[in-house]
Amino acid sequence: MKYKYQAVDKLPTPPTPHLSWGSSLHAALEWFWDRKLPEPPSADELAAALYDRWDDTGFADMSRQDKIGWYRHAQDVLRRHQAQHAPSYRPAAAVEQWFDVDLGDRVRVRGFIDGVMPTGDGGFGIVDWKTNRRAKTRAQVETSLQLALYALAARDLWGRDPDWVALEFVVPGIRVEVPIERIDVDAAVAEVHRVAAAIRAGRFSPTPNRLCGWCDFRDICPAFEGDDGATDVPGTALVELQRLRRRQERDAQRIAELEQIVRDRLGEQALVELG
Ligand code: SF4
Repeated sequence: MKYKYQAVDKLPTPPTPHLSWGSSLHAALEWFWDRKLPEPPSADELAAALYDRWDDTGFADMSRQDKIGWYRHAQDVLRRHQAQHAPSYRPAAAVEQWFDVDLGDRVRVRGFIDGVMPTGDGGFGIVDWKTNRRAKTRAQVETSLQLALYALAARDLWGRDPDWVALEFVVPGIRVEVPIERIDVDAAVAEVHRVAAAIRAGRFSPTPNRLCGWCDFRDICPAFEGDDGATDVPGTALVELQRLRRRQERDAQRIAELEQIVRDRLGEQALVELG
C-alpha cells in the first residue's frame, strides 16, 4: 500500500525532523567520502560541510532551542564518524552511484548506492548509511533485500561482485559488514519479480506493521488505526517542492562545474555526444 501511495499515486511526503536530519547527514557523509585526495577531511571541514548542506524544512514548526539540539546531534555523529574512519581513510570509488538494472519480463530496478568503497587490493565493498538509532543484527543485514539488489547492481555496472556489503549505522557508529557469499541475490531477484507481479495485478493490500506509526501515509491508509488527523496534501506538496527545488539548484550548479571541466579538457563535442 505504501508503494502505491508513493510510486503510483505519487503523493507528496511531508518533511519531518527525522527525514531532514537524515538527508542532511547523508549529504555531509557523501561529501566526506567523495574526495580526490587520499587524506580525510578534518572534523572541522566535515562540520562546515554539514552547515552548507543542512536541510531545514523538517524543523519549521520547532523552537530554536530544539532545532539547535538536532543540529548539535548531527555534528556529534559526524565528529565521531570522522574520528572512527580517519585513521584508515580511503576515499570512496563512487558515492550516490546510480544504477538501472533490467531483470527481464519488463522489470527494472533503479536506485542509488550510497558508497562504493575500495578495499585496497583491487576489490570493493558497498555501504549504505543508515541514520536509525539502533543497529540491525548481522542476520538481519544478511537478508536485506536492498543490499542484495546493490550487489546485483554492482555486477551489472562493473561485471563483478563486491567483496562485501554493509549497512553502516552512523548514530551508534556500527558498520555491519557481510561477505558477499552470505547474500542471496537470486532470492532477491525472485522477490522483486513476485512484487512486480502483484503490482501489475493491482494488488496493493496494506501490511500493517510496527512502523505504521511513522509512515507518511498513515492518515489515509485504511489499515492504520492510530491518530486520525487529516493529511494536508497540497501543503505537504508545496513544502516538498520547495525542498526539491533547492536541491535542483545545488545540482544545477554542480552540473555547470562538471560541464566546464569536460568542455575545457575534451571540448564541446564531448558534451554533445553525452546528450
Ligand atoms: S500505515 Fe502501515 S499499512 Fe498503511 S501504508 Fe503505511 S506502512 Fe503500509
